[in-house]
Amino acid sequence: MDKVLNIVGGGMAGAEAAWQAANLGVDVVIHEMRPDVGTFAHQTQHLAEMVCSNSFRSDDDENNAVGLLHWEMRAAGGLIMEMADAHALPAGGALAVDRDAFAADVTARLLAHPRIRVQRGEVTALPDQGQWIFATGPLTSGALGQAIAAETGAEALAFFDAIAPIVYFDSIDMSKAWFQSRYDKGETEEQRRAYLNCPMDRDQYEAFIDALLAAEKTEFHEGETAGYFDGCLPIEVMAERGRETLRHGPMKPVGLTNPHMPDVKPYAVVQLRRDNALGTLYNIVGFQTKMKYGAQASVFKSIPGLEEASFARLGGIHRNTFLNSPTLLDDQLRLRKRPNLRFAGQITGVEGYVESAAMGLLAGRMAAADLLGSHVPAPPGDTAMGALIHHITGGAEAKTFQPMNVNFGLFPPIEARGGRRGRRERYKAYTDRAKATFRNWLAAQARPDAA
Ligand SMILES: Cc1cc2nc3c(=O)[nH]c(=O)nc-3n(C[C@H](O)[C@H](O)[C@H](O)COP(=O)(O)OP(=O)(O)OC[C@H]3O[C@@H](n4cnc5c(N)ncnc54)[C@H](O)[C@@H]3O)c2cc1C
Repeated sequence: MDKVLNIVGGGMAGAEAAWQAANLGVDVVIHEMRPDVGTFAHQTQHLAEMVCSNSFRSDDDENNAVGLLHWEMRAAGGLIMEMADAHALPAGGALAVDRDAFAADVTARLLAHPRIRVQRGEVTALPDQGQWIFATGPLTSGALGQAIAAETGAEALAFFDAIAPIVYFDSIDMSKAWFQSRYDKGETEEQRRAYLNCPMDRDQYEAFIDALLAAEKTEFHEGETAGYFDGCLPIEVMAERGRETLRHGPMKPVGLTNPHMPDVKPYAVVQLRRDNALGTLYNIVGFQTKMKYGAQASVFKSIPGLEEASFARLGGIHRNTFLNSPTLLDDQLRLRKRPNLRFAGQITGVEGYVESAAMGLLAGRMAAADLLGSHVPAPPGDTAMGALIHHITGGAEAKTFQPMNVNFGLFPPIEARGGRRGRRERYKAYTDRAKATFRNWLAAQARPDAA
């Protein structure tokens, strides 16, 4: 009985965690609240239901970080990828699936597994005993959310994300942008240079406000909105409140001197802040938005210095329950204070079906190893799974932590040999390196004495 792994939530992460742990020889109980308690997004009783798009995004494992994550999950015997492949629909380079057949088949495979049992019903408390994985997702039930907040502190559990766009540092034009913290604040040189600044003159600012007001926006789902306006107004809503609002808010031009044009005072300044320890990603400060993705790319590229920007992710505001994982979780996805409780999936601060399933895969293997008296280390940071788990449990800035998709900006940079590499060549080098490392990581688990 003490070898049982309890998994709360039978979504992308919970389903994958159960499959992995059961295949390693552990008995698993999945606790799923549907159909007793529903969410505004789920429509069925199936496990691993896709709540919105039917796409697992790019399947290009040579040049795309999501495609690489697919490759790693297939290599690790992932159920979600096996079922996605079995129910794939024609979609160019993307992996789109027949959502109902996919989820029905995942559910059937889990129910048919001799070591897996599914118990329907809401879990509302954090248990003191046993091994548990909480994989309750962006729409974690209210009662459980309260129990988690009571354990972690309310400030460490968010109920909405407010995601500002994130830009690859190497796509920013540094002949226009410069490093400087407002009023050169900071004890160290690094702190005094913590922000990247993009200056605007008056015409550029006015054109930017016009573009924000005209841009197409997405709507909230019914039942999604409660309380989001506290402290995370979308940038376009600020602009609607007055053309000068942004210039007195996140775009205020004070305390900054443009070294490229020291005699010209900028009319407004867009600031970007480092988003990861590697310094490869920068988020645009205060630019959370409900603009549609296409509109965001064109509006943000009108910012001087960002004309050629490449975005690791675009902005958004959604109902999304997630932990401040960099402060709360260790690199085994365990709550530092209560190591018998693991978290997996979107609640750990990754974003997307594939990323969530990948964190389930790791949590399932790690929890099974604990129960079987062995140990599975997190994959190294130059793999897609490793890059994600190290980002959420350490590499990300805890103070501004927001959910993250997998992207090459999370990987340790590859040194250019013989000059600057082209983007495709660089991505191929990332994926080749990742595959070799991931194969070794898997092989070490097959030979635990060699781990
Ligand atoms: C409206 C919306 C649209 C989205 N669109 C997309 C998209 O297009 N593409 C994309 O990649 N991602 C999308 N996402 C994110 C997507 O939901 C996640 O990436 C993915 O489903 C997360 O997997 P998960 O296993 O962490 O959570 P989920 O798949 O949501 O699974 C969590 C499970 O836990 C159950 N549960 C919750 N609380 C309890 C409890 N107390 N007791 C027992 N069970 C519980 C839920 O019923 C659910 O089955 C969207 C999210 C939302 C909310």
